[in-house]
Amino acid sequence: MNYYSLSKYLQETYHTKLYKIALNAHMSCPNRDGSLDHRGCIFCSEGGSGDFAVPVEEDFIEKGTALFGKKPVGSLFIGYFQAYTNTYAPLDYLEKVYRRVLEHPQIVGISIATRPDCIGEEVLLLLEKLRKEYPQKFLWIELGLQTIHEKTAAYIRRGYPLSVFDTCVQKLHQLELPVIVHLILGLPGESREDILASVQYLNRIKPFGVKLQLLHFLKGTDLGEEYLAGKVKALSKETYVTLLVDCLEQLRPDIVVHRLTGDGPKDLLLAPTWSLDKKGVLGAIQKEMKERNSYQGKLWEKEIYD
Ligand code: SF4
Repeated sequence: MNYYSLSKYLQETYHTKLYKIALNAHMSCPNRDGSLDHRGCIFCSEGGSGDFAVPVEEDFIEKGTALFGKKPVGSLFIGYFQAYTNTYAPLDYLEKVYRRVLEHPQIVGISIATRPDCIGEEVLLLLEKLRKEYPQKFLWIELGLQTIHEKTAAYIRRGYPLSVFDTCVQKLHQLELPVIVHLILGLPGESREDILASVQYLNRIKPFGVKLQLLHFLKGTDLGEEYLAGKVKALSKETYVTLLVDCLEQLRPDIVVHRLTGDGPKDLLLAPTWSLDKKGVLGAIQKEMKERNSYQGKLWEKEIYD
């Protein structure tokens, strides 16, 4: 394997492959409830980027595994709080839903997707308490940075500056809570150099993991409208594959790559439709890496970042 994939990390750490059960804990998001905005991020679907998520109820394992159909998925899972902003609720509610998932014997750990401006001191204390109470299980925090560039952040209506993200990551590092950062490749107005600058920023802050996500244009989103109006374009498969491999070459080799492309909900996806063939995309990435004799960190300059 020429990059440090999540499955490699899980195999090394747990000696098995673990699947994620995407969860919807029915929270909201300050970008949707009017605290910051009503419109959400420009690319975000009505489902709050959790269109396949199951409710966090007593039967979440049964409902979550049913979505895999006949695929053999083993008996242990990661509980992935995916939909909306999963630290954006009263503390007692957060504690209740996190515990419900952590207590389940088939859950190895949880991954909480949220925003850095929604992790206050009380939430940090709760996360620290749970981390100590469940030493056999992990708590990962996923932050949707998408880009380091303020101009793009304003365009996508992210709603917080990079300095807020920076401070949050420092606090999570201090509490030994592993951080996974989401970056989007293909945001309108961003050049290859802009995207690589976001990757180089990750090399400096050293998160546990990264999700490299292809920009999807979805029905019912403002970005989807811009796409239909011909104002913005989707990346071609060839451009994405080249760009993705460029990013992997720059990325430090000890950052775990949790995602290389992304699953756009089929019924909402306007473009790029080539991304629906996930196997084909992953195959093209492998082919590109082989042809370039490429690997994660090939161009990472250790002396600059360590
Ligand atoms: S912060 Fe997340 S849930 Fe909220 S609008 Fe943006 S992408 Fe959607």
